[in-house]
Amino acid sequence: MKIAVLKEAAIAERRVAATPETVKKFINLKASVAVESEAGLAASYADAAFREAGATTGTRADVLADADIVLAVQGPDPDSLAGLKPGAWLVAGLNPFGERARIDRYAALGLEALAMEFMPRITRAQSMDILSSQSNLAGYKAVLDAAAEYDRAFPMMMTAAGTVSAAKVFVMGVGVAGLQAIATARRLGAQVSATDVRSATKEQILSLGAKPIFVENVAGIEGEGSGGYATEMSDAYKAAQAELVSAHIAKQDIVITTALIPGRAAPRLISDAQVATMRPGSVIVDLAVEQGGNVEGSVVGEIVERHGVKIVGHRNVPSRLAADSSALFARNLFNFLSAFWDKEAGKPVLDEEIGTAVRVTQGGKVVHERLLS
Ligand code: NAD
Repeated sequence: MKIAVLKEAAIAERRVAATPETVKKFINLKASVAVESEAGLAASYADAAFREAGATTGTRADVLADADIVLAVQGPDPDSLAGLKPGAWLVAGLNPFGERARIDRYAALGLEALAMEFMPRITRAQSMDILSSQSNLAGYKAVLDAAAEYDRAFPMMMTAAGTVSAAKVFVMGVGVAGLQAIATARRLGAQVSATDVRSATKEQILSLGAKPIFVENVAGIEGEGSGGYATEMSDAYKAAQAELVSAHIAKQDIVITTALIPGRAAPRLISDAQVATMRPGSVIVDLAVEQGGNVEGSVVGEIVERHGVKIVGHRNVPSRLAADSSALFARNLFNFLSAFWDKEAGKPVLDEEIGTAVRVTQGGKVVHERLLS
C-alpha cells in the first residue's frame, strides 16, 4: 500500500495533505509514504522532516508510480496525474460543484475520487471533517485580519492620556467559523454581537458572552436544513433581516461574515448602501468571498475600500495559517483512512454510509447522486 502526497499547485495554497506526524502513523499501519519534493515547504514542513518520519521524497512521477492512494488538499489538475494507475484513490477537498470538469476527468482516468467535503455530519465522522477543521482556523484568522486592517484597538483601554473605547464586532453566520470568530474577538476585548438564520445558534452566541441579534416573529425562522446546515430563507425573512442588520451595522466597527448555504452561492447579507452607513475606518471581512460573497463589492484576493470602509476578501483563509491548517487537515485524512483500515487486506475498506457519501467517481464513472441530478 503506497500513499502519495502531492505538492499543491493552486494559487494561494500553502497547505499540505500530510505532515511528518501523519506519515509516521501511516507507516505504523504498514503503508509506505512518498511525498512530492517541497510539498510541505510553504507550511513549514521540510522534506527532511518527512524523510525522518519514514517517507521518501521525490518528483511527481516518482511519488505517483504504483501509488494506491493519493492525498492532496485541493483536487490536482488531471493532466498532472500521468502515471497514476487506474483504481487508485484520490482523497482531497475536490470542490465537486466548482470543479465539475475535473471530476469527469478523474472518472475517465479510472480513479476512485473521494471528496472530503462531502463527509457526512455524523458524530463518528467529526474527526474526519475538513470543513470544520479549516473553518475553525478561518474564523480565528478573520478576526486577526480585521484587527490588522483596523486603525484602532480592540479592547477598551483606560490610560493616563484618556480612554480608548472597545471595538464593536458583529459576526454574521454562526457556524464553525463564526463561533471561533466570536470567541477570538471576545478574547481580544471587543464588544461582540452575532446573527444567524438558525435559531439554535442563539444559545451558543450567549454562551460565548456575545449578544444575539435575531429576526423575531417572522414565519419559518428555524433556518435549519439537513445536517445542521442552513436553508434558503423566505422573502419576508430576508426583508426583516435586512432591516434589522441595517440598523445594527451602522453602529459596528468590524463585521465578519461567514454565511454559506451548501451547493448554492453565498447569501448576500450586506449591500453597498449598508456599507456606506458604517463609519470610515471600519473593516468588513468577507469569509464567503470565494463562494460569491456575503458583501456587495468584496473582491476575491483583495482588500478594497468603499465609502472609507475596508472590505477584506482574502483567498483561502485557512491557508494563511498553513502549519496548523495542514496539521488538522492531515489528521482529518488520517482519521478517515485509519478508521476503515482493514489490517488483513493492508488497505482501507469504506463502509456503505461514508463510502456513498464521499465517493464521487468509481469504475470510470461519476457515481455521486448530487453530481448526477
Ligand atoms: P456553513 O459554513 O455551511 O455556514 C456558516 C453559517 O452561516 C451557518 O451557521 C449558517 O446557518 C449561516 N447562514 C446561512 N445563511 C445565512 C443568512 N442568510 N444569514 C445569517 N447566517 C446565515 O456552516 P458550518 O460552519 O459548516 O456549520 C453548520 C452547523 O453544522 C453548525 O451547527 C455546526 O455545529 C454543525 N456541524 C456538525 C458537525 C458534525 O456533527 N460532524 C460537523 C461540523 C459542523
